[in-house]
Amino acid sequence: MSPRTLIAGNWKMNLLRGEAGLLAVALADHMRSATSGAEMVVCPPTPLLDTVAAKLAGTPLGLGGQDCHAESAGAHTGDVSAEMLRDAGCGFVTVGHSERRADHDESDGLVRAKAEAAHRAGLIAIVCVGETEAERDAGRAVDVVTSQIAGSLPEASTAANTVIAYEPVWAIGTGRTPTLDDIAEMHAAMRARLGDLMTDSDAVRLLYGGSVKPSNADEILAIANVNGALVGGASLKAEDFIAIHRAAG
Ligand code: PEP
Repeated sequence: MSPRTLIAGNWKMNLLRGEAGLLAVALADHMRSATSGAEMVVCPPTPLLDTVAAKLAGTPLGLGGQDCHAESAGAHTGDVSAEMLRDAGCGFVTVGHSERRADHDESDGLVRAKAEAAHRAGLIAIVCVGETEAERDAGRAVDVVTSQIAGSLPEASTAANTVIAYEPVWAIGTGRTPTLDDIAEMHAAMRARLGDLMTDSDAVRLLYGGSVKPSNADEILAIANVNGALVGGASLKAEDFIAIHRAAG
């Protein structure tokens, strides 16, 4: 049986409280009556978690953080712990997004420690991986991504506590996407690599992320081994994000 499709929205550093509340209400209304069996999760900026959590209460719409520190508490100004996210109502957290790997120099080892923290706090870690354009042009995309997976996954990772998001760096926010064959090749390679690392690798949800929008969601979500999408820009517009969720069937 295929794992349950997951459509996750990464709001990044966007929206103020009023806008976030309106977006959350529109998505919550959709989820109350949605016929699609796909799960939907939104990952707002940390200061908006309470506002969004209040709007989602009692609906099947999930909440996630965008990052967490590896430790549970301490002298780490500006950071948030996985336990704090859990306390704020989150069930998920993205770790290792390419913008964090690039802007904050995050290594696979650090991403792994953050995923461990997520598991410790009872959160599902959405572990992000993806090659740069230069790496793809050099024919190294599969090697780069499978090695990121091996380096970023804690030993205790299971299909229940971990989701992997393949996000080619050059496709994020650019309107460009890999060919459907390239996505299929990468997702098959990821599934095979996970088979060496986990006993329930077939049940792990593998998301594609990078310029997913209503016009390409159908064909991307139909690819073998694609079990959902991580969506940036299009998750900020209720109409677009709902259309992507509907495309998940
Ligand atoms: C992302 O940042 O995770 C992402 C996929 O962004 P976009 O959909 O805007 O390319």
